[in-house]
This record gives sequence, structure tokens and C-alpha cells, in this order.
Amino acid sequence: MTESDQPGLGRREFLGLCARGCLALGLMPLGLRDSGGLLAGAAQAKVGNVSNVPARYFKPLAAREIKCLLCPRHCQIRPGERGLCGVRENVDGVYVTKVYGKPAAIKGDPMEKGPFFHFLAGTNTLALGTAGCNLTCLYCQSWQFAQRRPEQTDNESLPPDEVVAQVQKYGIPSITFTYSEPVVAIEYVLDTARAARAAGVKTLIHTAAACNEQPMRDLCNAVDAINIDLKGFTDKFYQDVVGSLRTVVLENVKIAAASSAWLELTALIVPGYNDDQASFRAMCEWVLENVGPDVPLHVSRFFPEYRLRNVPATPIDTLKELRKIAFNVGLHYVYLGNMAGDPSESTYCPKCGIKVVKRVGYQVTNEALDLRTYRCTKCGLKIAGYWVA
Ligand code: SF4
Repeated sequence: MTESDQPGLGRREFLGLCARGCLALGLMPLGLRDSGGLLAGAAQAKVGNVSNVPARYFKPLAAREIKCLLCPRHCQIRPGERGLCGVRENVDGVYVTKVYGKPAAIKGDPMEKGPFFHFLAGTNTLALGTAGCNLTCLYCQSWQFAQRRPEQTDNESLPPDEVVAQVQKYGIPSITFTYSEPVVAIEYVLDTARAARAAGVKTLIHTAAACNEQPMRDLCNAVDAINIDLKGFTDKFYQDVVGSLRTVVLENVKIAAASSAWLELTALIVPGYNDDQASFRAMCEWVLENVGPDVPLHVSRFFPEYRLRNVPATPIDTLKELRKIAFNVGLHYVYLGNMAGDPSESTYCPKCGIKVVKRVGYQVTNEALDLRTYRCTKCGLKIAGYWVA
């Protein structure tokens, strides 16, 4: 989907509403009349608005070459060149990031769009995405900026302190780095998350977790919630369709699961590519064994995009069969994504089966969840997650 196709409040709308002080997202107690820094940021927005901020996670080599240590590609970059992600450059021996404080997408989104269903459910979040990605997914859903260099996208100037100031000003409880790959903008994500935590604001990321161990641990320690894409469960799919390493992603899921950050998983099902039931069952069994039954799993519907425009949308029956498999394996919370209005969007108590949180699209209603104890009001089972009134 393009940025403008995606439901939620668009960047221009968000900036305009912030500037007019009339942003009203769901239950947010907003209504301020002050025009703030975002308007100034919007005025600076332009194609080619990039940063030259020192990057982290690298090793200097001879002849001013640099080896990037952020992701398993380990790009070896000569002066004047960039790595495959297109946002990290060797400037005469100095390694810099071109996307620090330069989001190409800014939206006021429902938390459920993340998707995050068990973390601050029913609230809204400021969603940011920068240009660039270290993967090459043939079905990229955000190719308009994920598969572009930052010089080719229309970027705002929104440094970490300003992001936090704006969400505080308008009473938004969280910031989510999504749409493209937060890993390649790690310096921006880490600094924003640290400033946010100091201000009592939560930070979330949605990532494919194609990342080396140390930066992955740093991300997990800095943010409050993570959604990791499990794009498939064969090495061949990861290599041929995604341009990543399955083994690295699985190790990073384990790192995230062992951290204090809340974890959810997403599996986008592409017909004919990763919809094999045996492979999906193996993935669910791995999740059960390595993460546990309470991690929410979002099984999402694919729509034709980017280089797989010739592949039809995932049949609904395929998704429903996979959801049954996940439940049969023993996972407690399995949702179908991109299926607005389907009963599979709601949360059901794994013990007594009652609907505890009802979802219809982005409308969220608490039906049977005790928000003081996080327990099902019928049988008393604790429903995993971080819930708010
Ligand atoms: S983060 Fe970018 S520059 Fe670094 S190794 Fe990965 S693709 Fe290459």
C-alpha cells in the first residue's frame, strides 16, 4: 500500500492538525491552540532533505574504507559510497546516516494498525518511517520510500527531542517506527526512544529483524514493544524473496522474547510463496517452543504490490486454515490481518473462549477484561499484554 492508501491520519493532515492544535485521535484529550515545532518542520520538508549525522556500528578499514556492522550484509563501503540500504554513507572515511531526524512518513495511527493488539490497545500512536531498507522483498508494501534513497523522498526535519515534544504536547502516549525498516535508521530510533522513555512516552518498532546481535540487543533495551515479521519459514524463501537470512531473524526473535520489550509477530502470507501448511505449522511450533503460547501472532493478508503485482491477494480460506493450524499447535492469540471486520480481529480468552476485547477494524471495545488485573472477567485467566483503560 502507498502511504496515502493506508488508513490513519496522513502526514500532511497530521502536521496540519498539529499546527492548528485540533488533532483529535480517538480518545486523545487534545485541543490545544498553539502552533508548534511541527509546522516549522513541515516548512523544511523537501526532497533531498537528508542528514549527515555520525553513524554507529561499523569498523574502519584500510584506505578509509568502512565495514558496516549493523546488519548481516556487512557492506564494505568505499569513500563516497553507501551500503545496500542506501542510507548509510562513507564520507571520506567518516560513516554517516542520511536519515537521522528525517522521516519520509509521519502519521497519526491507531495502535492496532502496527499491528500491536496487546500493547496500549485502543490508543493512538505517532507513526514514523524513513527512507531505505536492508531487505529486498519482492512484495514490499512500502516500496515508495523503503526501496528509495532519502534524496528521492519528501522528508520532514523532526529530530528526536522534537518528536517527543510533539507527542507530549498533543497527549499521544507512544511513538512507532514502522512503514520501512527501523534498523537502518537505528541511531534515530535509539535516540528518540531514550528521550521518549525519559519523558514517560513509549516507543515501538515494527521490524524484519535482519540485524546483527549487538544492535538488536540495543534496540530491545531501548524500546517498549516490538513487532517482528516472520516472513516465512524456509531458508529459500528468505534468500530468494526477502533477501535476508532466516537463522538471523529467528535468533533475533529469541533476543526480543528474552528482553523486557513486549513482543508480537506478523506473518504476511503470499499465495504460492509462503502459504504451505506444513511450513507454517513448523513456524508455529518453533514460536511455541522458543517464545511461548502468549505471543500474539498476526497472520496477514497479502495484496499485490511492487514486483509481485501479478500474484493475487491471499484467499481468505487460506488464512482461516492457517489460523486454525496456529491454534491447534497451541498458540493462544492468533489474528488475521488486513481483514477489517472479521471476527478473527478480536481477542478471545484462551481458557473459557469469551471475547475479551472486541475489534471491528480500528474500533476497540473492552468486553470482558479487568483492566486492574488484566484478567478475563469470566474465568480469571490473565490475558497477556499491557492494557490501558
Ligand atoms: S545496514 Fe545498510 S550499510 Fe549496513 S550492512 Fe546493512 S545494508 Fe549494508
